[in-house]
Amino acid sequence: MGAEIFDIVVIGGGVNGCGIARDAVGRGLKVLLAEQSDLASGTSSASTKLIHGGLRYLEHKEFRLVREALIEREVLLRAAPHIIWPLRFVLPHHKGLRPRWLIRLGLFFYDHLGGRKLLPGTRSVDLRHDAAGAPLKPGFTHAFEYSDCWVEDARLVALNARDAAERGAEILVRTRCSEARRAGHLWRIQLEGAGGVRREVAARALVNATGPWVSSFLGGAVGMNAPDRIRTVKGSHIVVEKLFDHDRAYIFQNADGRICFAIPYEHDFTLIGTTDADFDGEPGKVAISEAEVDYLLAAANEYFQASVTRANIRWTYAGIRPLYDDGASKAQDATRDYVLKLEGGTGEAPLLSIFGGKITTYRRLAEAALDRLKPTFPAMAAPWTAQAKLPGGDFAVNAFAAEVGSLSKRYPFLELKEARRLVRAYGTRAAQVLGDARNAAELGRRFGPSLTAAEVDYLMREEWATQADDIIWRRSKLGLHMTPAEQAALQDYMVQLERTPAFAGGDHEIAPRRG
Ligand SMILES: Cc1cc2nc3c(=O)[nH]c(=O)nc-3n(C[C@H](O)[C@H](O)[C@H](O)COP(=O)(O)OP(=O)(O)OC[C@H]3O[C@@H](n4cnc5c(N)ncnc54)[C@H](O)[C@@H]3O)c2cc1C
Repeated sequence: MGAEIFDIVVIGGGVNGCGIARDAVGRGLKVLLAEQSDLASGTSSASTKLIHGGLRYLEHKEFRLVREALIEREVLLRAAPHIIWPLRFVLPHHKGLRPRWLIRLGLFFYDHLGGRKLLPGTRSVDLRHDAAGAPLKPGFTHAFEYSDCWVEDARLVALNARDAAERGAEILVRTRCSEARRAGHLWRIQLEGAGGVRREVAARALVNATGPWVSSFLGGAVGMNAPDRIRTVKGSHIVVEKLFDHDRAYIFQNADGRICFAIPYEHDFTLIGTTDADFDGEPGKVAISEAEVDYLLAAANEYFQASVTRANIRWTYAGIRPLYDDGASKAQDATRDYVLKLEGGTGEAPLLSIFGGKITTYRRLAEAALDRLKPTFPAMAAPWTAQAKLPGGDFAVNAFAAEVGSLSKRYPFLELKEARRLVRAYGTRAAQVLGDARNAAELGRRFGPSLTAAEVDYLMREEWATQADDIIWRRSKLGLHMTPAEQAALQDYMVQLERTPAFAGGDHEIAPRRG
């Protein structure tokens, strides 16, 4: 029997792979995506989680990227107002920085380059009288405050996959592409699932969206000689007990000229990051180093009155920026823009590799990727994602409180904090998580303070979660609020559920399980 033929097979279930799969299937193409681990298990869950133009990229003259990213902020905010929300940034001024007039000029461009409609503009802040000044050392008297957005990065990935699946794409997790060989106008692709289960598929076009693995995939699975190089730059974050009570973030400049963010995180915490260091290890094994911890603590202690020490750290994470190697000498100077490389001659099935990119620009990157594949699929439909909602995002940008109100009305037993969390995570689909429950007990067993069996079931059924970590560190950050025993109980529960007929995908083939 011949292998099933897809128009596009996407390798890699990060934000770029899932974004391309969603866009492609929505244009009428037959799509399969394979992710070797969990969705967003690579860089796409390890970002600073900002939908931002990138103020500092203005200094690097990356005007194309900044403009595209600034425009994209409001497009994405409208598409997913549950997982994306406006965030104000306080930039304290001091004499080590560029002069005030220059920063004001930069922020003027930042305000106007991207046709801002929803987000408020820049203002000056007197830190002696504003709440933002209270946690800072007394020497800081003046700041600028400007807008960007926050995004739940890993949920953005899962929602793109969900939408792609609902439009007909096949999404496979824990499925590695071990080999891809061109056979004329088709690719023959070997997939390996859990337990070494194999499947061969064919594709008219292959998309390499493997992020930090992009070059090793070309050299390994594709067997290419001297593939384009990638610059892998590590970035780490620490999560500390919260350092301030207001809902704005800080952007600090460190003594070395780099910038560092301190952002309100998961109600009880402050997120501090990031670092920038060249990395040549295995991307799947990246972790924060002691030197990076020291660096981030020192950065925080430059600005905050309270002393921040290792004892305050509750969690850390690290990721690899898969940047295109443009020959920049310093990691922080390497371009953050994306580069798409198309390979394949006339009559040959194309291979498109994605280098670089930001969470912020993933949707535009997907459009650009499909544009490059247009000669192979001349009849595909026009771009469509700019106006489309992501699952659960079908409410107005300013209607979050109303959504929480209607969920609380329908499920009066929910605590307000819980209703807010569910609407943040699932938007208008929160009711699908809760189903017909009439009281808290009907949501089933509890794992930690707020995770219920109903939510776990939903995430396994609808969002490809198979391991406890998928749920507590990617579909949510509930791991911050759970004990090791609760986490272990969740893992046991999921293993049991996975074995029940309703969830079993079959151990003899790699097949679509749900969606
Ligand atoms: C520290 C840090 C902070 C950042 N902050 C921001 C920010 O605030 N805002 C912003 O817009 N951007 C930010 N970024 C950039 C952004 O996170 C990345 O550009 C983006 O997530 C890259 O996504 P990706 O899909 O290309 O790669 P990934 O998310 O890494 O996805 C690639 C996937 O491919 C899979 N894969 C690899 N090989 C195979 C194979 N053979 N078969 C199957 N699957 C395979 C991997 O498991 C992985 O899941 C940040 C990056 C870092 C590192």
